Amino acid sequence: EIHYDRGEKYGCGREDCKVGCDCDRFGELWNLVFQQYDMQKDGTLAPLPKVGIDTGMGLERLAAVMQGKETVFETDLFMPAVQAILGMLKGYSYGGDKEKDAAIRIIADHTRAAVFAIADGVMPSNEGRGYVLRRLIRRAHIYGRKLHLESPFLYKLAPVFSDLMKDVYEEVGKQAKLAEEVIRREEERFIETMGRSLKVLEEIIERHSIAGEKTISGEEAFMLYDTYGLPIELTCEIASSRGFCVDTDGFKEALERQKELARVRSAFRVEDVEGFEGLAKTQFVGYEETAVKATIVGVREIDGELFVVLDRTPFYAEAGGQVADTGWLKDDDGNVLAEVLDARWFGDVIAHKVKAVCEKLTEGMSVNAIVDEARRTAIMRAHTATHILHAALRNILGEHARQSGSLVAPDRLRFDFTHPQPLTEEEIEKVERWVNEVVLQDIPVQTFETSFDDAKAMGAIALFGEKYGERVRVVRIGDVSIELCGGTHLKHTSQVGIFKLLSETSVAANIRRIEALTGLEALKLTLEQKATLLSVCELLGTQPERLKEAIQALLEERRKLQKRVEQLEAKTAMAQVEELMKKAVTVDGIKLITAHVPNMSETALGQLADAIVSRMPQCVVVLASTVEGKISFVAKVSSEAQAMGVHAGRLIGEVARITGGGGGGRADFAQAGGKDINKLAEALNKTKEILLRQLGRK
Ligand SMILES: [Zn+2]
Ligand SMILES: [Zn+2]
Repeated sequence: EIHYDRGEKYGCGREDCKVGCDCDRFGELWNLVFQQYDMQKDGTLAPLPKVGIDTGMGLERLAAVMQGKETVFETDLFMPAVQAILGMLKGYSYGGDKEKDAAIRIIADHTRAAVFAIADGVMPSNEGRGYVLRRLIRRAHIYGRKLHLESPFLYKLAPVFSDLMKDVYEEVGKQAKLAEEVIRREEERFIETMGRSLKVLEEIIERHSIAGEKTISGEEAFMLYDTYGLPIELTCEIASSRGFCVDTDGFKEALERQKELARVRSAFRVEDVEGFEGLAKTQFVGYEETAVKATIVGVREIDGELFVVLDRTPFYAEAGGQVADTGWLKDDDGNVLAEVLDARWFGDVIAHKVKAVCEKLTEGMSVNAIVDEARRTAIMRAHTATHILHAALRNILGEHARQSGSLVAPDRLRFDFTHPQPLTEEEIEKVERWVNEVVLQDIPVQTFETSFDDAKAMGAIALFGEKYGERVRVVRIGDVSIELCGGTHLKHTSQVGIFKLLSETSVAANIRRIEALTGLEALKLTLEQKATLLSVCELLGTQPERLKEAIQALLEERRKLQKRVEQLEAKTAMAQVEELMKKAVTVDGIKLITAHVPNMSETALGQLADAIVSRMPQCVVVLASTVEGKISFVAKVSSEAQAMGVHAGRLIGEVARITGGGGGGRADFAQAGGKDINKLAEALNKTKEILLRQLGRK
């Protein structure tokens, strides 16, 4: 180990102060491991055939030493960010307060880590690396609160690191805007979540107060942390300010339990080869051929499903988002021996899931393996189109738009990519046009094998999270696209036929999804749309080019008719005013009118009630109408009657309830709906009784 002695003044002054002391004087810079022996199970040391020295130097620590700084945070690797934070804290200078300095360092460190992670394609989420990123941003944000930085602020530091690092880490420079945007959104989300969590905490405190308890349980603190993201420190702080304490031991236990669960879930999984052990690697010939003669080397029945393994096969097994081929196993006379429904990888072996037509499928048998070529071609159209789409998105939206998932099926594709907001109508149109232009340019699609390093040097896009071997397969579409890909592709882009974008939606925070059709499926869609259009035209007796006018005319006519109906209804209603007024009964000095007026809209019913009340002081009107089996009630109460304590909303509510409905409203006017027409008469009859009760007379 190589240590640096920073001098006596940094020492603890103890007599035994030396290298390895826990004071600040000595810092380890460099670590060398001399590999010489291989320890055997019995503990003896066997010399290694090749010895070596493994060396690891702390770059940032060395920078601190070279620049004569006490910590890495004062070096030029961090100082610009520290300065930026200080700029937000007016009136504080670095070194003034130990706790504040620590908060500043944590913020700088976490923000830098977040910027790098985002540049590498990680997005905040609730799982795996996305969760780590989310925790980093949230933790840094919480330390900001200790410095009274409460609105989003971390995102302002992102460009500082992007600028600082872009010369060495190209990706960080390219994804600068994305990092800023993602961090800002995550901070906003977190602030929102915290607002919600504080409300929940208030409720918990309230509940305990009523019960006369003063402790927030570990489970409750964990729920706040796990579900709402409220840090335990904050829970404790708020709790103690309200005279509560928190069971932190219980919290730690709950946290441990969750971690244990996560460990079990992510336990190392061995690739599933069960049932296919001992079989030789299948030779895949599907890039060049779709029909070959092959020999059955294995027949297995697993969970009631029959699998056949061949020595070589043209069937593409599902991988990299591309679905498996289907087809047939035939004998030399062209008779179908089995239908191939699916093909899957089991280790190095491709197993064909089959539906056997004959029972004589045995090892050693020679068969013709034939892929459904039309379907395969449709899959290739979708796959090549996927690569063009990927390129289109990077060109139109920016380099940050990367594949995060894809499904390639016959003439149908789904493509997930990183992008912080929905695409605009304009962008969607641009993408669709861009892809189709590349299709029309008839660019040759080349595939070749090379080393991973050479492929990277060519600028090939490797997919995040995929593992690549020494040799990789590259798919290149002229200058448009170059990707590492094991899928099957067209020879020329024009074979895609047509690319039709169906939808653009959100799948998760910062992940968008495009669904699209190619070739025959795209044609089918166009034909279906045309058929719909024509049938609509036929209904309206018009031509497609005049359809819009025809619908506008129809809507205009409808509007006019509606107006006419309303006028007629109002007229009919008014004609009944006199008639209804004669039906008034006097209830405790109030004139009550109840009536069933069939086939009248709610609006007309209201107008009718208005007309009666305007002519008859001290009155209460309750009207019901039935239109196509639906009951509506209206109640209107004159101001004099209101003064006597009648409330239209309460009255109508009770009346409507008799018919199984409900409703309410203001004191002067209210509406309600009913259900059972058979009870309508009863409801109206009981109005008087209800009115009396509500007046307190009965
Ligand atoms: Zn010391
Ligand atoms: Zn691909």
